[in-house]
Amino acid sequence: MHKIESAKLLKDVMTNYFLGMGDKTKKYAWCTSVGPAELLRSFGFEVHFPENHGALLGTTRTSGDFIPVASKLGYSSDICSYLTSDIGSYLSKNTPLTKHYGLEGVPKPSVLVYNTNQCREVQDWLSFYSREFDCPMVGVQSPRYLDEVKKADIDNVTYQFKAMLPVLEEVSGNKFDIDRFRETLKLSKEATFLWKRCLETAKNIPAPISFFDSTIHMGPIVVLRGTEEAKHYYEALLNELEGHVKDASGIIGKEDLRIYWEGMPIWGKLRFMSELFAKNNAAVVASTYCNSWIFDDFDENEPFESSALAYSTIFINTSEKTKTERMKNLINEYKIDGVVFHDSKTCFNNTNSRFGMPQRLKDETGVETLVIEGDLCDLRFFSEAQSTTKIETFIEQMKK
Ligand code: SF4
Repeated sequence: MHKIESAKLLKDVMTNYFLGMGDKTKKYAWCTSVGPAELLRSFGFEVHFPENHGALLGTTRTSGDFIPVASKLGYSSDICSYLTSDIGSYLSKNTPLTKHYGLEGVPKPSVLVYNTNQCREVQDWLSFYSREFDCPMVGVQSPRYLDEVKKADIDNVTYQFKAMLPVLEEVSGNKFDIDRFRETLKLSKEATFLWKRCLETAKNIPAPISFFDSTIHMGPIVVLRGTEEAKHYYEALLNELEGHVKDASGIIGKEDLRIYWEGMPIWGKLRFMSELFAKNNAAVVASTYCNSWIFDDFDENEPFESSALAYSTIFINTSEKTKTERMKNLINEYKIDGVVFHDSKTCFNNTNSRFGMPQRLKDETGVETLVIEGDLCDLRFFSEAQSTTKIETFIEQMKK
């Protein structure tokens, strides 16, 4: 059993990223988490991700203070609690970035960029800031829930990517440079491959990393895609994890069962959940959430088309049929005994338990499935006692 030592380096990498946000001489693009970060970096923008800020509000458990502030403005507390936490934080002029990194606040945007490949909420979210800052907003309306992404879909998204260029040129003051775009995409591809290999170390028994650790270590692949820093970080993390595999050292003391976590993390309860599973000798080794930042299809030789393909085929954007196939592969590859579906109250987009999937998956694979209720940030929708009982009963049943 070990602790992940790279956490220290992670802290430095993330601190540098956030401290960089204090530089008022730079131009900031705000981007959705699976938006075209590589393209934005190629123009020289620093990139801020409101969802990352939402997750920070969740982990610091400050969301509860901010969601009601956004609700007063008409943003229902039933919609994405990243959105309501983030807008509430902005309206309250209060962010944990001040306490943790000494920042006055989130940097002001020069441009807002979205991709609806994950949900329409991100567009509504950035629209608020577009009105607030009188700031240009551009984006991609992705074809959604496809079994398979066809050439016409790629052409459509490629066209939309290219249509953003004049606005990005005007706002950044820089001409589009295809070689620079190829470079940022290549860096992103290299980081994403390393991240994939980090996650895949959990195929080993015992697993050297759990889903709960991965949600923290995924920070650079979300916010630093297209940079050397992200690549170097995952080289270090992979090196460490491979060492643990060699030593047969697991992230938990005893691994009797292997679990797949389906859906969003419960940010304010990561430690609680991690300890609950570990105490019951169950290693949570796989998820599609952390895999969402693996972009196998990036190819710097075809930067637009490959970005269009990679960003259109993310798990959340696929059909129920494709999702089920991908989950079955993960269940097989990670030798999963049970799947825990998180029914996240305010994110139906990343909740896959509401249309009969747990039952179908159980019938088709023979693995046990469980649904727990909760939320990414809004802890009013989560009960520790109820979840503990459900999870412990589930684990007990699997052990019999
Ligand atoms: S996918 Fe869900 S959590 Fe993420 S921004 Fe959209 S609604 Fe919010």
